[in-house]
Order: sequence, then structure tokens, then C-alpha cells
Amino acid sequence: ARKKIIAGNWKMNKTPSEAVALVNELKPLVANEDVDVVFCVPAIDIIPAMEAAKGSNINIGAENMYFEESGAYTGEIAPNMLTDAGVKYVVIGHSERREYFAETDETVNKKVLKAFEHGITPIICCGESLTQRKQGIYIDWIRMQIKIAFQNVTADQAKGAVIAYEPIWAIGTGETATSDQAEEVCAAIRACIKEVYDEATAEAIRIQYGGSVNAGNAAELFSKPDIDGGLVGGASLKADFGKIVCYNK
Ligand code: 13P
Repeated sequence: ARKKIIAGNWKMNKTPSEAVALVNELKPLVANEDVDVVFCVPAIDIIPAMEAAKGSNINIGAENMYFEESGAYTGEIAPNMLTDAGVKYVVIGHSERREYFAETDETVNKKVLKAFEHGITPIICCGESLTQRKQGIYIDWIRMQIKIAFQNVTADQAKGAVIAYEPIWAIGTGETATSDQAEEVCAAIRACIKEVYDEATAEAIRIQYGGSVNAGNAAELFSKPDIDGGLVGGASLKADFGKIVCYNK
């Protein structure tokens, strides 16, 4: 069975000192050995959060990374900066990065390849808009996002990847996808991985749901066969996150 992975995405929240306070507050609340726990935090919070998380089961991840090694890319964070700080996970291609920072399926693919090259697990985001859902083209859209994101990724690499299905209409809106809606797409993503690779890869890869996950709906969402955890925004900034991580207790 796949181990669940429950990640917080802090987005543009928490100063370094606030980050330390939040890690310290949540440390005792997120102890659940059945689950991989990741806090994806702003770049400037990574080192203090990593220090604060020492001795706990919390992994500190990044929210973004550039696809070049180093050089004249003002404002960007290189993969070896993350690995040197001890980072093992990075969110790639969040819908907010696609919308506000011009990320495309092609840049997502470059970042995914670069993350694997450096031994960082990418949490690869995909998801449809409300219009695409209403038009009934959401499965086709997500299959295309996945196929491009995984171009030139080997089966062994893909087995270790994490995919986050985040319907854009459910992000920060309080309107969670129903567990059946989320399961339909997560199962379709797994089927797509099977087509691109093979059964073993599809069975190994972990697929999260994200979009208004909270302490009240997490257990139902995570009970679905193809949902291997969650990527949590707003509710990862408070004690609620402890209840989400301990959904099975
Ligand atoms: P919310 O949980 O705030 O809806 O955000 C989801 C998300 O975008 C996580 O990456």
C-alpha cells in the first residue's frame, strides 16, 4: 500500500520568526507515523523552519525552484540551494504560479526534470478551471498536463513523484470537490501514468488532492482508493493541520 503524504503549502504567508512559531506549535500535533508530513514554505523560511523541525517527523519543502543550475537569474532559487539546506520536496507548477508567474507545462517539465536530477521529490500540480469543468473537458486537460510534465522522466523517477490534483475552482474558495469528484480525477491520473509507463509505476506514484481540504473533510477524501493524501493551503497555517495529518486517529 502507498504511504499517505500530507503537505502544507504555506503560499506567501509567515515571516521567518512566524515560521518557527508555527513549526513549534504544530510539531506535537502532526506526529503520525502512517503519513509523510511536509511543510512547503517560502524560501526565506526554509532554514529556520528546518532548524525548528529537527527531531520531529516534519519534512520542510520548497514552493518553487528554478530549472537552471546557477547564474544570472535574479530572484530565483537554484536546486542545489535547496538540497544544501536539506530540502527533499518541492512544489512544481502550482496553479498560482501558472496564473501569476507565467509558468507553462513546458517550464513545469523542465523543473520536474531538474528536481529529479538533484534528488528532490517534485510535488507536481495539475487541475482544471471551473470553465473547463463545466465544458466537460477536465479529464483531457489534466491528462495533457500530466503527459507534458512527465516528458523524459524515467519510470524509476516517476515512481517517486507526487502529483497534486488541485481543481482551481476549489482552491481557497471553501468549495471542496466532493470525494467522488476528486477520486474520479485521481483515478484518471493514475490510469494516464499507467498508459505512459506501466502498472508498477501507476501503483507506486502518490496522488494528492488539494483545494479547501480541512479537518472536517480530510478523512472522507483520504478514504478514496486513488487519493494518497492532500496538499493543504489555508488549513495548513493553523492547528487544524494537526487534525488533517491525524485524520486516521
Ligand atoms: P486551500 O487549501 O487554501 O484551498 O489551497 C489549496 C492549495 O492551493 C494548496 O496548494
